[in-house]
Amino acid sequence: MIKAIGIVLSIFPYSETSLILKVLAWDKAQISIIAKGWRKKPEPILRFVEYEFTLYAPKEDGLYLLKELNQSRDFSSYASTSTWAAAEAGAELCARIIIPAHEAKQYYTLLTQYLGYIAPMQENAILIFWRLMLRIFTMLGIGIRLQRCDSCLLSKEPFAYNLAGEIICQDCLQKLPLPDRYTQLSPMAGKVLLLLPEIANHLQDIHLTNSDISQINQLFLSYFSAHQKQTLKLKSLSVLSQFY
Ligand SMILES: [Zn+2]
Repeated sequence: MIKAIGIVLSIFPYSETSLILKVLAWDKAQISIIAKGWRKKPEPILRFVEYEFTLYAPKEDGLYLLKELNQSRDFSSYASTSTWAAAEAGAELCARIIIPAHEAKQYYTLLTQYLGYIAPMQENAILIFWRLMLRIFTMLGIGIRLQRCDSCLLSKEPFAYNLAGEIICQDCLQKLPLPDRYTQLSPMAGKVLLLLPEIANHLQDIHLTNSDISQINQLFLSYFSAHQKQTLKLKSLSVLSQFY
């Protein structure tokens, strides 16, 4: 038998009576747990709640089997529906990336701090989601330099980006033979990228439109795909974007 601390990222029904839990575990990264008979229990298992699980080791199907659980911390309440959607996006991101087991604790801390941080926010939680993405990219070894032009390599304000996730400055955009392959960032999207590492100090000054959000999402997702050779699509991020 194994003890594991973990946060429930998602829950799927499995047969009439059972559930499959996708869990980010403190010292194991992502694991899947089958909870046999738990659909009928009066006390439901909740997403975004941290539990101490008692588990049986997986057999050939790779699923841990749940014996019992005790609630530890609760990250399941958010000040608004859009903030809940931002929590979903963070959880989906952590479910989709490949986390080495020996680094699980750092990712776990990052996710739980993120969920705790956004919980009281009424709006603009997507800014903190992007900061989470920025930090996760760095931990994955594909840190994105938002304040450096990928063409002249100078420290410049981000002005345009392409579908390889490259960012260039205004001067370089004008010199390029094929400038139409780049999308010019809106002034607000450019400002957000510039301020993102310390965006928590600027939450009141940012007023996002749907197109600002599409640009930043596209930049981050393209950058990830180009550097990880793996397409990243986050359903919850599309849902989150609809609140703006
Ligand atoms: Zn440049």
